Amino acid sequence: MKIHLRQIPEEGLHLEGEESAALLDLPTDEYNRPLGPVQYSLDVGVSGTGLWATGELSLDLELECVRCLEKFEYPLLVSDVAMQIELPPQETVDLTPHLREDILLALPAYPHCDWSGERVCPGRQEAKRESAASAEGAADPSRTPSAWEVLDQINKPAK
Ligand SMILES: [Zn+2]
Repeated sequence: MKIHLRQIPEEGLHLEGEESAALLDLPTDEYNRPLGPVQYSLDVGVSGTGLWATGELSLDLELECVRCLEKFEYPLLVSDVAMQIELPPQETVDLTPHLREDILLALPAYPHCDWSGERVCPGRQEAKRESAASAEGAADPSRTPSAWEVLDQINKPAK
């Protein structure tokens, strides 16, 4: 994503569009897959010896939940892009590596499928069940709590 410095007026320039995720060379593996292009909405300007850019980046990703190992969609949003780039000797500045860095920083290190609260991670339920079972002691190891008991356990305020 190259910007010609001469095309930036004194008052700055608003840039909006899409950039292919492949072009940004984002890491793609079985745990992390871009589902579409990177969308950007940026204000850029030149001040002194620097180019600044502020705005938003967004990208839909497919991630793998670290707890239940299920794939889920995650709309990544970087709402506070603020970069300051030293003006290069040539007349164009390539924002690509800077956009890439901002997106990498925003990637969740430990993605969870229940990030939005719209679903309960099966892995989390499993963990609750295990901790509930161990809290009750090994008095009756054959007894498995029902789903409702597990839900009660989740809704119960921590003492
Ligand atoms: Zn999960």
